[in-house]
Amino acid sequence: MAGIYIHIPFCKQQCSYCDFHFSTTFQKYRERMLKAMSMELENRSDYLGNETIQTIYFGGGTPSLLTQEEIKAFLDQIHSLFDVAEDVEVSLEANPDDCDATSLQNWKSTGINRLSIGIQSFKASDLQWMNRAHTPKEAEQCVALAQSVGFDNITVDLMYGLPGLSEEEWRNHIQKVIDWGVPHVSSYCLTVEKNTLLERHVQSGELQVATDEEESRQFEILVSMLKDAGIEQYEISNFSKPGFESQHNSNYWKGVPYLGIGPSAHSFQGTSRQWNVANNSMYMKAVEEEIDYFEVEVLSPADRFNELILTGLRTIYGVSIRQLSEIQDFPKGFSENVEQLKSQGWMEEKSDRLYLTPEGRLRADFIASELFIVQG
Ligand code: SF4
Repeated sequence: MAGIYIHIPFCKQQCSYCDFHFSTTFQKYRERMLKAMSMELENRSDYLGNETIQTIYFGGGTPSLLTQEEIKAFLDQIHSLFDVAEDVEVSLEANPDDCDATSLQNWKSTGINRLSIGIQSFKASDLQWMNRAHTPKEAEQCVALAQSVGFDNITVDLMYGLPGLSEEEWRNHIQKVIDWGVPHVSSYCLTVEKNTLLERHVQSGELQVATDEEESRQFEILVSMLKDAGIEQYEISNFSKPGFESQHNSNYWKGVPYLGIGPSAHSFQGTSRQWNVANNSMYMKAVEEEIDYFEVEVLSPADRFNELILTGLRTIYGVSIRQLSEIQDFPKGFSENVEQLKSQGWMEEKSDRLYLTPEGRLRADFIASELFIVQG
């Protein structure tokens, strides 16, 4: 079992909060980039051994800028190089301004069976300071159109912790996606990343980010409203109706190997991870000249132990005690720390697995760090 991630490093414009890797001046080398990515796919087709591909994910950047033919070319190549499961999950991240009836129909007929729509906010003023390329109306139309062409596996991204977002507005945003009947929601708190336009807006006092209390309150509202609507939290920031959990992301959290294609894409093989250079020109040149364009990190048993705790505890699947013990002996004080976390009501233990309680999920990173192996 394994996954493939295709990173499309193009965007129409730069969202003010974003620190992902992309370029807005891609038209002049679009063809060359896609060719380099296809070469990388070919060259690294043995990275996953003979594992069956269960998930394919087009992320970015903005993969909805690709034409139907470009997406089909990647999928055809993947099918020719790998053993692909019949029920493979194929996700595409799409921005609302790229979604019309034709593009949606094309994606569907090409084999995309899961659509991830980047809505973020329904407030026009938010979308403006975010420098998003879409309007609230386009977001609404996009979801309705996607449903009308037969996409039933849809996820939407919503952000909280936005400057000036009132509790009532936040409730209205959540209610809207509940009313649409979408089966999956991903929701992240706005983070002010270094060297972004947002950081400058915040430093100049033009925008004021939410307080910790406001963020926590909005997160609690999110969890509770979605739960009441039958959309359960299965990872800290991901919520789903039964059977609509993202297989691709769930596999990341369970430690399943994946191959990442494109500039800045990460790959994971169980005992090592690697990441491609986050520079479009350097990436294309290196692939074409067959020189290295990635860095590799071999994971020590302690790294793997800590990663399993960090990712596993963020999910409802929890972390297997047996799997941890197979990687490395428990560090001194581990069992005592687990007992302490259980007595605080933050952690539960059920048939070989450790889980966080809803209370514990509010402190997931802190709890994980309490159980880490400290490396010298
Ligand atoms: S569309 Fe997505 S990847 Fe592109 S700039 Fe905006 S947030 Fe970043």
